[in-house]
Amino acid sequence: MKKMIIAIDGHSSTGKSTFAKAIAKVMSYTYLDSGALYRGVTLYALEEGLFCKNGRPRTRELIRQLNNIQLTFRKDPVSGENRTYLNGKDVEHNIRSLEVSDKVSPVSEIPEVRDFVDKLLVQWGEKKGIVMDGRDIGTAVFPKAEVKIFMTAPAEIRAQRRLDELLSQGRPATYEDVLDNIRKRDHIDSSRTKHPLKQASDALLLDNGNMSVEEQMDWFKKLMKETWDITLP
Ligand code: C5P
Repeated sequence: MKKMIIAIDGHSSTGKSTFAKAIAKVMSYTYLDSGALYRGVTLYALEEGLFCKNGRPRTRELIRQLNNIQLTFRKDPVSGENRTYLNGKDVEHNIRSLEVSDKVSPVSEIPEVRDFVDKLLVQWGEKKGIVMDGRDIGTAVFPKAEVKIFMTAPAEIRAQRRLDELLSQGRPATYEDVLDNIRKRDHIDSSRTKHPLKQASDALLLDNGNMSVEEQMDWFKKLMKETWDITLP
């Protein structure tokens, strides 16, 4: 069977990465998290003091320094999952902080940052046999992806899920702050000029507000059977 590209886009905190990882496992594909790269650029900007007092990125300086940023994924030998490295340092934990989540959407609005990340994603995607999640994978990065899924759920449900995740990792957060962050990111991601978040015309909509991960996987397996005649375990 020919290897495919599976593009999963959608709103923040819809469980895209959980779903994408489960799909990668069942298909024996590689999972690539495009958001981790935008988060990596944002962490770099934070560490280098590239934000103004008003919280906006110092765009010109960041663009000038993009060549200094090296982002890679390396497999964790224990979990088998990819971890994100920024200039040789494991930043998987640091890129998930609320501070990075707060600043990542204004950074990912910058067209030069998008070009920088897209170049990496396209290189990695050439191998096929990948599941990639993000905001513009099916519309801009891989418009010819064989499978496109667009995920959404009510913001309140997403905020509660994200809060539970943060608290379980020992990261203090409040429901109000998380909901506010999700709403802001939805707005910036959907309204930016270059590659805004939107459902591709050929993407299937998956509203998982009332669905468990198992139910989402059943939905996916049915889709693969009906569309591609692929039977998954
Ligand atoms: O997926 P995740 O929430 O980790 O992504 C972090 C941020 O990166 C998003 O809120 C969005 O602003 C940006 N992003 C993007 N395009 C992608 C993936 C992520 O603009 N393909």
